[in-house]
Amino acid sequence: MISSRVVSQRSWYTLIFTALLSVILALPLPLSAEDPESIQTAALDTAKPTVNVGILAFRPKPEVIARWQPLIDYFNAEIPSAHFVLNTYTNQELDNAVANNELDFIFAQPSHYVRLTYTHSLSSPLATLVNRQGQDTFEVFAGVILTRSDRNDITALSDLRGKTIAAPSTEGLGGFQMQAYELLQAGIGMKDYRVLVTDQPQDRVIAAVLDGSADAGFVRTGLIEAMSRAGKLDPQQFKVLNPNTRRLDFPFAASTRFYPEWPFAAMTHVEHDLARQVAAGLLAIPHGGELAESMRIHGFTIPGDYRNIDQLLRTLRMPPFDDVPFVTLQDIWENWKSLIITALFLLGILLILALFYLFYRNRHLLHIQRELQDYIAENQKLKLAVEQSPVSIALTDLQSRVLYINHAFTQNTGYRPEEIHGKKMNIFKSDNTPPQLFQQLWTSLLDGKSWHGEMASTYKDGQEHDEELVVSPITNADGDTFAYLTIKQDITERKRSEAHIHRLAYYDQLTGLANRALLTKTLAAHLREHQRHLVSRLLLLINIDRFKVINDARGHVFGDALLHALGQRLHSLVQDKDALVARISADEYAIMLSCDASKDTPDVNKIMSIADEIHVCVAQPFLINGELLTIAVSLGMVTFNNACDLNGDEVLQRADTALHHARSAGGNQSALFEPGMLNQISNQFLLDKELREAIRSETLDIYLQPQFDTNGELYGAEALVRWPHPTRGMVPPSLFIPMAEKSDLIVDLSEYVFRKSFLLLAESQRQGHPLHIAINVSPRHCRKSNLVEWIVALVEETGVDLGYLTLEITEGLFIGNLEMVSQRMKLLHAMGIRFSIDDFGTGYSSLSYLKQLPIHELKIDKSFIQDAPHNTNSAALVEAILAVAKHMELVVVAEGVETQEQHAYIKRHHGVIQQGFLLGRPQPGKEWLDQWIASQKSRH
Ligand code: C2E
Ligand code: CA
Ligand code: CA
Repeated sequence: MISSRVVSQRSWYTLIFTALLSVILALPLPLSAEDPESIQTAALDTAKPTVNVGILAFRPKPEVIARWQPLIDYFNAEIPSAHFVLNTYTNQELDNAVANNELDFIFAQPSHYVRLTYTHSLSSPLATLVNRQGQDTFEVFAGVILTRSDRNDITALSDLRGKTIAAPSTEGLGGFQMQAYELLQAGIGMKDYRVLVTDQPQDRVIAAVLDGSADAGFVRTGLIEAMSRAGKLDPQQFKVLNPNTRRLDFPFAASTRFYPEWPFAAMTHVEHDLARQVAAGLLAIPHGGELAESMRIHGFTIPGDYRNIDQLLRTLRMPPFDDVPFVTLQDIWENWKSLIITALFLLGILLILALFYLFYRNRHLLHIQRELQDYIAENQKLKLAVEQSPVSIALTDLQSRVLYINHAFTQNTGYRPEEIHGKKMNIFKSDNTPPQLFQQLWTSLLDGKSWHGEMASTYKDGQEHDEELVVSPITNADGDTFAYLTIKQDITERKRSEAHIHRLAYYDQLTGLANRALLTKTLAAHLREHQRHLVSRLLLLINIDRFKVINDARGHVFGDALLHALGQRLHSLVQDKDALVARISADEYAIMLSCDASKDTPDVNKIMSIADEIHVCVAQPFLINGELLTIAVSLGMVTFNNACDLNGDEVLQRADTALHHARSAGGNQSALFEPGMLNQISNQFLLDKELREAIRSETLDIYLQPQFDTNGELYGAEALVRWPHPTRGMVPPSLFIPMAEKSDLIVDLSEYVFRKSFLLLAESQRQGHPLHIAINVSPRHCRKSNLVEWIVALVEETGVDLGYLTLEITEGLFIGNLEMVSQRMKLLHAMGIRFSIDDFGTGYSSLSYLKQLPIHELKIDKSFIQDAPHNTNSAALVEAILAVAKHMELVVVAEGVETQEQHAYIKRHHGVIQQGFLLGRPQPGKEWLDQWIASQKSRH
C-alpha cells in the first residue's frame, strides 16, 4: 500500500501536467464496445483485479448509482484488464474510504477533491466533468449570490454586512465557499454575516430568501435558470449581486469567479497504465453522446485548473487548511527522536556555555563598571582637588593657549575663565623677566621636561607679581605632548618677607648699614675667595670716643641720631670704593675695602692716609637736633688677603686689638694691627694679675700733686696712684686704671687709694696742718651700694675730718643714676665731703645737674687749658665755664698747667686754682706731705 503523505502544491501541478502529457502522448486507441476480442478477453479473464470507483453522492445513493453506473459499465467494456466497481459515498464516507485505501478512483466535487489531495494520496485529476443543463454545457461553474429584487437596501456585496444569508451547507463549494471567498475578497469576513443553513436541495435557499427568513442566498450557478425553466420560480423576483460576465460562453448568471467542474482522479497507487486507460476512456466519451446523455452530463474534458480552489480553501481557512496541524508532536517525536535528543543536548550545552559566557561577561562588566565608578570618583576627587587647589593651575595647548584655569588662578590673576580661554599665556609677560628665562623654559618643554623657576608676571590689574612656576608637558599614551600644565604661585609676599628677613638679619635697623653678621659673612667669603692672584683688603673698626658719655648725657634719641649721621657720613665717604660699611655694635663701625697692599708689606702710609681721611671726615661738626656736635673716633685696622690662614673671627679680633690700642692711646687715634699687639693683650692679663697682687701686697704708692690758688698759696693736693713695677718700672695709671675699670678690680684699687689717702689726711690733721686732699673716685666704686657705710667705717678707722676731703667725680657718673648718686653725694656732703667735677668740659653734660647736686668745684680739663691761649674755641669754653662757676659760686681748678703762658692765661681770671707740671709734679705722697708739714712748721 502506498503510504499517505502530504503532496506539495508544486508536485501536485507536476502530477497534473505529467498525467495530461501521458494522456495526450500515449493515448491508446479507444476500443469499441463491439470489439469481439475485448469481450472475449473480458470473458476469459475471470481473475481480473477489482477497481473501485468512489463517487460522491449528493442525492440518494440509488439515484446516484443509477446515474453513474453507465460510466462503470463503459470502463468495464473499454478496459477489460480490470473489473470496475461503482461505490457511492456521502462526504464522510468518501473520506473514510479514501483513508482506508478502499478506492482506486474517485469522482467528487472539486473542493472535496482538493481536500483529499492534502489529506490522502490522490493523483492529479484525469479529467474534468463537462456538465449539462438543458441545452447548456459547461466545464466550469460558479456561485450565485442573490436577493429579492425588491430589496433596495441590498445592491452590492458590501450591503451584505450584518445580514442573514441562506446557504445549503457551509461545506459545499458552489453553495457556500465560492460566495464566502468573494465576500472575503470584498472585505466581508464570515463573521460579518449570519449563515442560515438550509440543507440540500438548494431550492430551500430560494424559499428562505423568498419568505424573508434570509436577506440573501448562496446557490450554485444554473439553479435559478433550472427552477425558472421548471416553472418553480419567477426570475424577476430575484436579482444577482456582483454579476460576473467575464465568460461569455457561460450560460448562467454568476456572482463569483469560475471554478472547474468535478474532477475524476486516481489514487496514487493505481498503476499508470490503468490510470492512463481510464483517462483516455473518459476523454473518449463522445460529448453529448448517448453515454453522456444517460449520465445527464455533456462529457469529460482535459482536467481544469484546480489551483484557484486550493487558493480559495487556504484563504477561507477551510479544511484542509483550517488549522489542524498536519503533523502532530507525537509524529515529530517518533520521527526525529534521536535528532531531537542530540539537538536538545547540544542546545543544553550551548545554553550552559552561553550561561557561563554570560556569567563571565557579567562579572567582567561588573568589574569594568566598578573600575569605571572608581575612575569617575577618582576623577571627581582629582577635579575637586584641582578646582579647589590654593595654587593657580592652568592647562594650555601646544601654542600656550589657555584651555582651562582653576578657581585659584582666577582669584590670583583676576582673569575669569571665559576671558582668558584661548588666549596665550604671554598676556602675563612682564618686561622684568629676562628673555633668556623664556628660552630656558621652552627648551625644557620641547625637550619633554618640566621647567621650574621664578619670574615676574603682570596680572589683570596691571600689577607685577613674583611667581614660582612649574610648567610640565602632558603626554598621551604614545608619549606625544598634547598640552602643558602650569602650576604657579604668587610669591611676591614671600619674596618681600624674605627680603625683609634678610634686611633684619644682615642690616642695621638704625643706620641701614650692614650689620655684624653681614660683615662676618662677607669677610668669610673674601677669605675663601679662590682667586689666582692675591686680593688684599683692609678692615677698619671705628669706635666713637666717649660715645657713652654723649649718649648718657643727651639721651638715646640724640645718640641714635648721631649714630645714624655718622653711618651716613662713613657710607658716603667710601661709597665709590667698593667698600662694605657696617655698624657692628652700639658705637662701633667697620669698613672693609680692597687695598693693593701685598701680603707681607702693607703700605702703611697709604693705609694711614685712609685713616686720616676718616678722622678728618668725622671731625666735621654734626648738626643733631639743631645742636652742633664734634666727635672723635678711634680706628683699629688690619690688612688681610685671600691667601692668609686666618678665619673671619681672627681678622676681626686683630682689628679689635688695633682699635683697643688706639683707644688706649687716648682716643682720636689710628692703629694698624701689628703682631706685637697680641703680646700686649696677653700682657693685660698678666697686668691684671700683677695689679691684684700689688694691691694685696700694698706695693702701690699714692702720689700727691699740689694745687695752688692765684696767690701761689697751696690750696690742696690731688692723690694719684702710682705702680712701681719690679720689672716694668713705673706703670702709668693710663695703662692700668682703664684695665682695672673693666672689673671690680677698680673697687679694690679705689678702696686702697682711699685708705692710703685717708691715712695721709689723718696724718696731716694729726700734725696740725690739715691739707685738702682730692681723691679720684672711680664710677664703678661710686656705684657700690655700701659706699657711704664703707666711708663711715673708714672714717672711724682713720679718724679723719672729712671737711678736708674732696672727691673728684666725672659727669658720666650721673647719667642714668642721678637719683641714687645725688642721694649718696648728699649723705657724704652732709658728712663734710666736697665734690669736684673732673675733666669738666669734655662730658657734653647739660649742666642742669649742677643745681641739683652738692657740687663744690669744677676742674677744667687740661686739653682746654693747654689750648686756650691759642684756640678761641677752647678759650670761649673756658670763659663759659668760668661764667657758670661764678654764677653758681663754684671753685674752679685748671689742671694741666704746663707753661707760663697757660699759667698767665689762667691767672688773668680771678680765683682759679691751678694744678700742673709747671707748679708741681705728682710726688710720693708721704714724703711730700712730710716735707710740706715740715715747711709749714718752719714757717710758723
Ligand atoms: P686726672 O684725674 O685728670 O689726673 C690728672 C692727671 O694729669 C694725672 O695723670 C697727672 O699726672 C696729670 N698732670 C698733672 N699736671 C699735668 C700737666 O701739667 N701736664 C700733663 N700732661 N699732665 C699733668 P696721672 O697720674 O697719669 O693720672 C691719669 C689719670 O688716671 C687721672 O687723670 C685719673 O683719671 C686716673 N687716676 C690716677 N690716680 C687715680 C686714683 O688713685 N684713683 C682713680 N680712680 N683714678 C686715678
Ligand atoms: Ca683727677
Ligand atoms: Ca683731670
